[in-house]
Amino acid sequence: MNESVLTLNGVGEETAQQLQDMGIHTINDLINYLPYRYDDFRMKDLSEAAHEERVTVEGRIHSEPSLQFFGKKKSRLTLRLLSGPHSIKVTFFNQPYLKKKLNVQDMITVTGKWDRHRQIITAQTYKLGPQQGEEEFSPVYPLKGSMTNRTLKKLIQQALKHYADKIADPIPEGLLAKYKLLDRRQALEGIHFPSNPDAMKQSRRRFVYEEFFLFQLKMQALRKVEREQSKGISINYVKDDLTAFISRLPFPLTDAQKRVLKEILIDMKSPHRMNRLLQGDVGSGKTVVAAISLLAAITAGYQGALMVPTEILAEQHAESLNELFQPIGMNVALLTSSVKGKRRTLLLEKLAAGDIDILIGTHALIQEEVNFKNLGLVITDEQHRFGVNQRRVLREKGESPDVLFMTATPIPRTLAITVFGEMDVSIIDEMPAGRKPIQTYWAKENMLDRILVFMEKELANGRQVYVICPLIEESEKLDVQNAIDVHVQLEQYFFGRFTVGLMHGRLHADEKEKVMKAFSENQFHVLVSTTVVEVGVNVPNASLMVIYDAERFGLSQLHQLRGRVGRGSDQSYCILLADPKNEVGKERMKIMTETNDGFVLSEKDLELRGPGDFFGRKQSGLPEFKVADMVHDYRALEIARDDAHQLIESQEFWEEQHYAVLREILVEDGILSGSKLD
Ligand code: ADP
Ligand code: MG
Repeated sequence: MNESVLTLNGVGEETAQQLQDMGIHTINDLINYLPYRYDDFRMKDLSEAAHEERVTVEGRIHSEPSLQFFGKKKSRLTLRLLSGPHSIKVTFFNQPYLKKKLNVQDMITVTGKWDRHRQIITAQTYKLGPQQGEEEFSPVYPLKGSMTNRTLKKLIQQALKHYADKIADPIPEGLLAKYKLLDRRQALEGIHFPSNPDAMKQSRRRFVYEEFFLFQLKMQALRKVEREQSKGISINYVKDDLTAFISRLPFPLTDAQKRVLKEILIDMKSPHRMNRLLQGDVGSGKTVVAAISLLAAITAGYQGALMVPTEILAEQHAESLNELFQPIGMNVALLTSSVKGKRRTLLLEKLAAGDIDILIGTHALIQEEVNFKNLGLVITDEQHRFGVNQRRVLREKGESPDVLFMTATPIPRTLAITVFGEMDVSIIDEMPAGRKPIQTYWAKENMLDRILVFMEKELANGRQVYVICPLIEESEKLDVQNAIDVHVQLEQYFFGRFTVGLMHGRLHADEKEKVMKAFSENQFHVLVSTTVVEVGVNVPNASLMVIYDAERFGLSQLHQLRGRVGRGSDQSYCILLADPKNEVGKERMKIMTETNDGFVLSEKDLELRGPGDFFGRKQSGLPEFKVADMVHDYRALEIARDDAHQLIESQEFWEEQHYAVLREILVEDGILSGSKLD
């Protein structure tokens, strides 16, 4: 299969060069060069054809073709065709020579665009005589240079015929049988030369699975290899201490919390290094899971670190962890950029001496001068805010500490198992009992008066309100609400009754923190802000959020914003002010009002926006699949992952001859070294 395409009949240097320009060097390249779409030349019953659909019909010409010229080069040939019960008009543009070829009573087959209202086909191609039956459903390949679809098809046909016996199938037979998948040879036949759309779909189904399976096999192998090679630490925590701690919590852990905790503790105890992602919606109780994990490290004689993206979050975490840990004599310290001079030196000394059990901070934590005595566990919160490099530096501190990444951005399962394919993923998919779900409403801007009345009611009850605007200040280009103007309007409206604060990204970090702190201490009542409040800040007294121009935000972002309310015991509300112009926009607003489930929303977001947009194109680093679509074929992706995992973990995979093809693939990818195969 690695023979050159030159071995094919009719391929000389010139054709070989053309193929090479398309990335096709070998027979193997050629037969794996897949069509990107199919032309459907099957006969169409016109009474069922949709307007502007591409159709193929046969019929007898029953009017003398008439030719009209417009200017020098442009022309239109028109004739009438009797096709079954229909008499339709057919027009050919700019092919005046057809006048001589087409005559009354001729039987022809034409393909073109159907105008249902005017009963006209604008023909693209035609053939004399009736439909032949062959090539009704025909592949269209991406081409370069002077290569034609026809030539390429012929070459593929030849190659498939000659090399049919040599096509190896990397997918284990058991899996083919389990899912009733075509074998590779049948699938290649079916994707290149399908007799009908169903045959093509069956072939496609197999290739989707193959792509996902091979991709996941690599990921799982990579994970296994890394695990076995990295000499992590085995954290022998004191189970009784953890049980005692958990029993003193003011609430029982949810089942989901217990489950993820178990997953984390197994990783910590095992000698391989933990590389785990903990996902859980806002308010699902990740902090307490983090706290118990940190405690586990400490009971085994290690230190722990918790890294968060902003100083105010670091302070909030330090406060809540102190509450939990001080009573049991643990030493929690906070390191931010405002810890300076002597205090900083002292803190760093204590850390290096092992007198601090848990260090909490922002990226200041990964500066070089910060040295732990015995770092065993690193937890980062809201990990998507940290760059990959920052995460790596942190991981390299200490003797390969275990690492847990926490995120409140529910990452669709499909993305999680691809982007984080080499990480283990734990999911908290359950909210603590007794939480009142946030009620979300979608309103048009002309209802603003009523919304103000509602705001006033909440404020009069002692609650606080967030108002979110997409922009900081007025823009000439965009007709959207800006924070500065809205701040002025609301100050006037609530004058003498309630006070209004302002926050946006152009404020200095110190000022932002100050505003946030004042709001969390109820020093003012309404906070007008851009999306900078998005990250995990906790103001339990805030019970209402109004989001202006909500259609401008993504679903995941709206959900993150909305998560700022509903953190106390009172009923909370979110009002989306939006006038979306299209159906997708309307659907997005509607789904926001229907669910509080971040995972559902993130899946929907992915579906409506596509995977490239989810993390922002540049940083997505998503793998590309030729046939498969991560959004629509995600079930197959999950199945393939489980199958790949099972296989990699099995003894047979590493020993038996019939897995040699797969092992070879892993060697070629540099995941396994060749010697491992012997
Ligand atoms: P997250 O960090 O996942 O957004 P938190 O850890 O801040 O969520 O938890 C939100 C709130 O829920 C906190 O006040 C926390 O004390 C509380 N909480 C956590 N777990 C439980 C539980 N199992 N039962 C009741 N309340 C809980
Ligand atoms: Mg949190």
